[in-house]
Amino acid sequence: MTNGRIPERISRLDELATNLWWSWHDEARQLFRSLDYPLWRLSGHNPVKELREVSSDTLEKAASDLSFLNQYDSVMSAFDTDMTESDTWINRNCPEVLSGPAAYFSMEYAIHNSLPIYAGGLGILAGDICKEASQLGLPLVAVGFMYPEGYFHQHLCMNPNYCQEESYQQLTFAEAPIIRVSSPDGEPSVATVQLDDVTLSLGVWQVQVGRTDIYLLDTNLEENPPQYRELSARLYVADRELRLQQEILLGIGGVRVLRALDINPLVWHANEGHTAFMMLERVREEVAGGTPFTEALKRVQATTVFTTHTPVLAGHDVFSIPQIERYFVDYGKSLGISYETFLQFGYHESSGNQAFNMTALALRMAGQRCSVSRLHGKVTRKMWHGLWPEVSEEQVPIAHVTNGIHVPSWVAPELHYFFERHLGKDWVNRHDETQLWERLWDVPDEELWAARLQLKRKLVGSIRERMRRRWLEEDEVPWKQMMAMGALLDPETLTIAFVRRFTEYKRPTLIFRDIERLERIINNEFYPVQIIFAGKSHPADLPSKALLHQVYTMATTRQFRGRIVFVEDYDMHMARYLVQGVDVWLNTPRRLREACGTSGMKASLNGVIHLSVRDGWWHEGYNGANGWVIGDDYSPSSPEEEDRIDAEELYRLLEEKIVPLYYSRDRRGIPNDWISMVKEAISSVVPVYSASRMLKEYTKQMYRPAAQASRHQRLG
Ligand SMILES: *Cc1c(COP(=O)(O)O)cnc(C)c1O
Repeated sequence: MTNGRIPERISRLDELATNLWWSWHDEARQLFRSLDYPLWRLSGHNPVKELREVSSDTLEKAASDLSFLNQYDSVMSAFDTDMTESDTWINRNCPEVLSGPAAYFSMEYAIHNSLPIYAGGLGILAGDICKEASQLGLPLVAVGFMYPEGYFHQHLCMNPNYCQEESYQQLTFAEAPIIRVSSPDGEPSVATVQLDDVTLSLGVWQVQVGRTDIYLLDTNLEENPPQYRELSARLYVADRELRLQQEILLGIGGVRVLRALDINPLVWHANEGHTAFMMLERVREEVAGGTPFTEALKRVQATTVFTTHTPVLAGHDVFSIPQIERYFVDYGKSLGISYETFLQFGYHESSGNQAFNMTALALRMAGQRCSVSRLHGKVTRKMWHGLWPEVSEEQVPIAHVTNGIHVPSWVAPELHYFFERHLGKDWVNRHDETQLWERLWDVPDEELWAARLQLKRKLVGSIRERMRRRWLEEDEVPWKQMMAMGALLDPETLTIAFVRRFTEYKRPTLIFRDIERLERIINNEFYPVQIIFAGKSHPADLPSKALLHQVYTMATTRQFRGRIVFVEDYDMHMARYLVQGVDVWLNTPRRLREACGTSGMKASLNGVIHLSVRDGWWHEGYNGANGWVIGDDYSPSSPEEEDRIDAEELYRLLEEKIVPLYYSRDRRGIPNDWISMVKEAISSVVPVYSASRMLKEYTKQMYRPAAQASRHQRLG
């Protein structure tokens, strides 16, 4: 990786660029920004690309520029401290988990936009866990896929009828923060997996995230048959056969790759059912070593953690029996059990004997089982009660750890420095202490309001910048489309965001139920409101595409006067601007359908107030003063009734509470009561809904017992 052109004095820039640690440390970002500002922007904030393209002249100048060198030394010293610090939370509180890494398996990881191998919330959670593990000193190795085409890019077009166009971009590996890993004998193939009648070789890429390493599998090796080289090209393909093949590679191949690299995890954590074959492979290893199946299963259970994320049965990963048969008849035998017994592990009453359910497999094979919020825990125990018919529903052995966000990644830099001034230089390391946030109440309202307005201007500026580019790139962009893209956005106006994956249960069109009433709210001459939408529909999800079409049509009508906007191609980069730059974060899922949700936590962290159905994390996070709930708890008798009641409540809240609160100002133009709610939102949400609190809970409740079992097994 070493870039020969980099002068000795600043030679570690290379090392810094390939460790995504820089992405959540603003001083490090500033360093790359000040090296070559235009290139930093053109590279899409990608230091690997920037360093490849920066001129030798610029590098030489930087190496003799005192202010750059000061910055460089300070960043490198912070980096070294973080990479080597031994006085960590884990060391002080849970040294039992230190004698081997925890292995984390996930289909997707969202670390930074320069590595686009994620689709949404599941990947964001996985990425946030990798970052937080580095901070807490938890040894973690993660396993996933290096998708060269990742997830699709969304482009909205007026013709023929406001559809979503999808395109895939090929990642240039040399410009990505990844390092090729070879087998111990220097070969690109690190491990092999049998798929039907072919033996596939797996290549591996390493991603450094602070102290956490992520190993990404790749089938694009010369020795693999052509049709299989594309197997890991894209994330969440609709084709079930391909999905099954990917999951076999991830689960079985992932374990073999770790073994080949001589990594011996103490604890194994499966993120969602996609990764469950990892458990099977470990049972197979034990059986191959002479342990009887029942004992092998017990050993694997004791050392395995599984997190389920899906509150509806239809959403779980299921394969047909003929599909499973194609790949698992022989494999089943190598487990020392009959094929029929093997199938029983994937049995669930919801699909009878016709299907193999990955969540059922994982729940049976993992000894520590977990859901992602308190309410989701209840829903999950009810849903899987059939696996434990001998106990009551409350006693179904599935616990919960509510998700949280990696605070340094999601806080706006402006607010980061604001918190440094008002809460203390070390606020980031102390952000999960509740008392720390009490100091926020001493901050003058006008200062916080000024910071909020600055973030709104930044958001509006970045949306306009996207439009400007589009205007230049395409001739004749219709004016309607320019309005829908945000031409008339105004930073002073109360701004609501509905920004999330487009799917029916999230009800993106609920707010359009009574168009005239919405029009009166939005177009109020003195107290106007604007709404920003963003989000992708899965390419195969036609009903959700119809919803997207409906919203986009609204954004292009004259009736809303440019105050309804659709920002296309929602990704991590845009997410940062949006969760930091609007006033209200709207969430309208059908009850019990949102497992947790994390975007509202990111919003609250930045002083954006949450307005949501009381579902997922908000069921436990709402305290009566830190935001609003739509419709509160009730059991709707039909979806139609739920829509009617919730839409009515949403309009009422906007008319009676939200709009008046935002526009009620003191003589200096400061909305004091609004700012009080902002302070309540920040101080009640940040200490609790952070990845720090989440990972500490995982460690104490799940990793510690699994690590103890693992050590015991090693000794025995
Ligand atoms: C946080 C985030 C999500 C998850 O948010 P939800 O609350 O589950 O909708 C999805 N996509 C991106 C890009 C995010 O940043």
